[in-house]
Amino acid sequence: MSTFGAFVYLVSLRQYNSCPAPPEPSQNSDRAPRADRAEPAAALPAGNGSWAASVMGAAGSRLEKVLGEQFPEGERYFGLENFGNTCYCNSVLQISNQKKKTGVIAPKRFIQRLKKQNEIFRSYMHQDAHEFLNFLLNELVDILEKEHNAARESLQNLSLQKNLNGPINGQTNGSHKELAATWVHKCFQGILTNETRCLRCETVTDRDETFFDLSLDIEQNSSITSCLKNFSSTETLNAEDKFFCDKCCSLQEAQKRMKIKKPPNILVIHLKRFKYIEQLQRYKKLSYRVVFPLELKLLNTVDNSDLEYSLFAVVVHVGSGPNHGHYISLVKSHNHWLFFDDENVEMTDESMVQAFFGSPQEFSGNTDNGYILFYESLADKS
Ligand SMILES: [Zn+2]
Repeated sequence: MSTFGAFVYLVSLRQYNSCPAPPEPSQNSDRAPRADRAEPAAALPAGNGSWAASVMGAAGSRLEKVLGEQFPEGERYFGLENFGNTCYCNSVLQISNQKKKTGVIAPKRFIQRLKKQNEIFRSYMHQDAHEFLNFLLNELVDILEKEHNAARESLQNLSLQKNLNGPINGQTNGSHKELAATWVHKCFQGILTNETRCLRCETVTDRDETFFDLSLDIEQNSSITSCLKNFSSTETLNAEDKFFCDKCCSLQEAQKRMKIKKPPNILVIHLKRFKYIEQLQRYKKLSYRVVFPLELKLLNTVDNSDLEYSLFAVVVHVGSGPNHGHYISLVKSHNHWLFFDDENVEMTDESMVQAFFGSPQEFSGNTDNGYILFYESLADKS
């Protein structure tokens, strides 16, 4: 996790109607009971900021006991408190002034700010951990770019003043306004390339697009590797969906495929578990079993290199439908897997990850499913 010092890596939010839903029965007997449903929790690296620390959760002290001497230096594992019907988000927050290693905090100001800045998080519609993650990353990029530009402008003003006062150094006034690659870009950004081949003239057109995560369609009893394969499979554009070929100067049938040109350091995979069903006129949750391995080889790259990734966090959606439910997360920190459920933070075993692959039959009752997966590249670790 060292790659992202200041970033708080997880992530979940939950959906509410106007009042908190009653706790759903847990599918996993070895899981900590959820007495009170609160904000999903996050792992919190030490940083700056101040939070009104509240009660030390019993789970927190248990965790400290379990980890004992092995408690990683400088790490803080805090649960996040819930504010009933008013809150639905959770993220990565910075804390300092926290002498305790574990506990519960109330991310009140964070949620107030979130609601103020973005209307969609004020209602219960469309709230989704994936949407929230996207909002958070884009918002972070905006803030970091503004800071960067302000810093550069003041530097330019300073050098302009120097030049006016002293001998002119012709090289200082380059006014290129290139955008900074922020740490969000460095961690999460990858590049996809969209290859389109016109079936009439065979011309191949490449179009690149950046991404912070990959949203994958899922199938029953499949794996991340097969979902990625489908993602990169060739698709024919025809009928209403023809492609405008610049060479032919007209709409033509074409073949299209998507490949990864620049793989990100942190690969975020979003499984499309919420699907709009035309006949039902609503979204339905797909609890399909999709195996996600601890070690993933990324095969669909432009240069066909096998890139290896290691799973370090999973956001799990709990519940049978898209409008009700709960989010919990599993996070690997210093070789320990931690289980975050609202204000509860518990140690768990690596094998627990398998419990969230999904259900091989449609009506099995297993509704705790991996929803967003975080993989870290092993490339610069060797
Ligand atoms: Zn053509």
